[in-house]
Amino acid sequence: MKYKHIFFDLDHTLWDFDANARATLHQMHQDLNLAERGVHDFELFHTNYLAHNERLWERYRKGQIRQDELRLKRMRLALLDFKIGDEELAREMGETFVQLLPTRTIIFPDTIEVLQYLTEKGYHLHLITNGFVKTQYSKLSSCGLDVFFKEVITSEGSNCLKPEKEIFEYALGKAGASVKESIMIGDALDIDILGAMNVGMDQIHVNFNRIDQHIKPTYTVYALKELKDIL
Ligand SMILES: [Mg+2]
Repeated sequence: MKYKHIFFDLDHTLWDFDANARATLHQMHQDLNLAERGVHDFELFHTNYLAHNERLWERYRKGQIRQDELRLKRMRLALLDFKIGDEELAREMGETFVQLLPTRTIIFPDTIEVLQYLTEKGYHLHLITNGFVKTQYSKLSSCGLDVFFKEVITSEGSNCLKPEKEIFEYALGKAGASVKESIMIGDALDIDILGAMNVGMDQIHVNFNRIDQHIKPTYTVYALKELKDIL
């Protein structure tokens, strides 16, 4: 066996972030009577939210805004698109969203089966994720995925973000793993794949959406069950 340690990304790789986020926003739209307050078109609200969220995450990744600003501003801006300037509501939504989201349990097909397979084959499984500690642990336990992972490395816990070299070095240290016996599995080319590449770690790109690859990973899969052909 070439590899001993497998480092997984969580969001968009195992845990279906988009589906879970959409379900959470939809629930909030109903619970907070947002239609009555002026958000008549949930689909448009959702689309706008995604665009704001993406831009703000980019700034968060660069260290330009803080976690609490990210959480508030993505709601404030999505509401402003519907001409709702309600700071209290934005704040409530920002907080409710991060409480509800990690309790959602939609994971990609064959996640459990593949993690079980890898565990039985004797691999040590770990996570490297750019999320927040509490949020990521909540997702894992809600879905029953926590039992599979030995080390869970978050950006918050390690004080650095993928694709920075430091988070991979920190993860290797925590796992007691060498770079040659390790492989990174994730959906984001510029974050998971490039980051692993920079420390000399092999990578598997989980390319559910069949995006064009501007960098060439060690392996590519289009569904999680294909990991069994590689590992
Ligand atoms: Mg991801």
